[in-house]
Amino acid sequence: MIVYLSKTWYNAGYFVRLEMSTVIYDCQHCRYTFPADALPERCPDCGKVAVRLAAEEERAEYDKIQAKIAAEKWDGSAQC
Ligand SMILES: [Zn+2]
Repeated sequence: MIVYLSKTWYNAGYFVRLEMSTVIYDCQHCRYTFPADALPERCPDCGKVAVRLAAEEERAEYDKIQAKIAAEKWDGSAQC
């Protein structure tokens, strides 16, 4: 299953646009959320076999974090 996400955020005066064609998974053991092309056998963070497809709200949370990181990067480079 492939989930296409395309979202635009208006964040701190900047448009942050993220386009992803990856599937988001999360680990039920450590709550690590990460993109991957296919379901990994083990969590890349804790190594447990507890990875499942992320739910809609977990994907939304992941998107928010990525948008924040992108906005911070943009902020840093604009200040020199
Ligand atoms: Zn984990």
